[in-house]
Amino acid sequence: MTAGMVIIGGGECGARAAFALRENGYAGSVTLIGAEKHLPYERPPLSKDTMISPEHPLARTIAGEDRFAEQDIRFVAGTTAIGIDREAKNVILAGDNRLAYDRLLLATGAVPRPLPLAAASRHCACLRSYDDALAIRAQLQPGARIVIVGGGFIGLELAASARQRGAVVTVLETQARILMRGVPEEIAAVIAARHRQEGVLIRCGVAIAAITDKDIGVTITLADGEKLEADLAVIGIGALPVTALAEAAGLETANGILVNAHLQTSDPDIFAAGDCCAFPLALYDGRQVRLEAWRNAQEQGTLAARNMLGLCEPHLAVPWFWSDQYELGLQVAGLADEGARTIRRDLGDGAFILFHLAADGRLVAASGIGPGSSVARDIRLAEMLIARSACPDQAHLAAPDIKLKSLLAA
Ligand code: ADP
Repeated sequence: MTAGMVIIGGGECGARAAFALRENGYAGSVTLIGAEKHLPYERPPLSKDTMISPEHPLARTIAGEDRFAEQDIRFVAGTTAIGIDREAKNVILAGDNRLAYDRLLLATGAVPRPLPLAAASRHCACLRSYDDALAIRAQLQPGARIVIVGGGFIGLELAASARQRGAVVTVLETQARILMRGVPEEIAAVIAARHRQEGVLIRCGVAIAAITDKDIGVTITLADGEKLEADLAVIGIGALPVTALAEAAGLETANGILVNAHLQTSDPDIFAAGDCCAFPLALYDGRQVRLEAWRNAQEQGTLAARNMLGLCEPHLAVPWFWSDQYELGLQVAGLADEGARTIRRDLGDGAFILFHLAADGRLVAASGIGPGSSVARDIRLAEMLIARSACPDQAHLAAPDIKLKSLLAA
């Protein structure tokens, strides 16, 4: 192999993969192509610290220029790949510049799902990039009226941050409750109550009929005719995997770029990882999932690099994500919707964990909420139980005085 490794996508996943190639001893050329002009940076702070820090927030970069130089990784910023010539094994850049590859990784991520009604508005924003975050942050002034469309993770984290900056916040959610995706109702209720306590108005079961710009601000008309006035509307209604390049190259896609357990696409020299790919989870009978989660992006970036080098290792990690809102920390390990029955364990200080068990008694997920990192240790232990497909004693799960560690030993 002489052409080297090319990675498209300069986010968490792509950057981790580039460094992992070196960590695994690869000595050939490594090129990382990023559409943004910034060095790869962490996205989780964008809805939190970036919004509330008193000083101008800097992007939290994953590695500085010196590390790229030291590891001899060529980072091409502000550049979009426009095609893949699979026969010639070339990535096509603007101006028909071509980059040859031996193995290619697509770490193209996801983009905010657009709300067509908001397309023409100058007062509607989405939050995905550092630049998006700076633009939204500039408007979070005391008394500013912020309407957030979508009661998911982005919307609610931003709602908490906006309140902390003194803005007046309304969240509009189409579903009957917030956080329908992956968060049990009992936990969503705690989060909703905390937002209400802070004065955030959460309105579920509403539909938007029109969004109309004014000279200053925007009018949001609901389906029943009610009008809401806002200085800024932020649209947080989910994300779509970036699959256009893969599709144009004839790779298989379906809610993401389809990969096998080794993160290999339908072309054995092309891998995909992170938010953009749909992969089979052995733990759940090969169920095809796409995860938009920071840790998944890291783990898959690292694994894809190893497999690009021929190691042929399967992705086995238990899905895990977290969200911080005010002082509350939410964590979910596993896929809660795989559960048939739920056992609650109270940890004190209002913190609790829900264990989700399949019909056969297997622990398939655990979700927890509480102040700070109060649920972190038990979620971590639950994750190990899930990875082992353990069938823990249900009475033991419910009893806080019985340590989860002892269940792991059993
Ligand atoms: P994100 O990562 O953008 O927060 P989620 O999937 O966690 O994505 O949450 C998106 C939320 O937006 C969901 O609760 C979903 O029901 C809601 N939603 C989707 N479309 C609309 C819409 N048109 N108006 C209001 N809420 C919407």
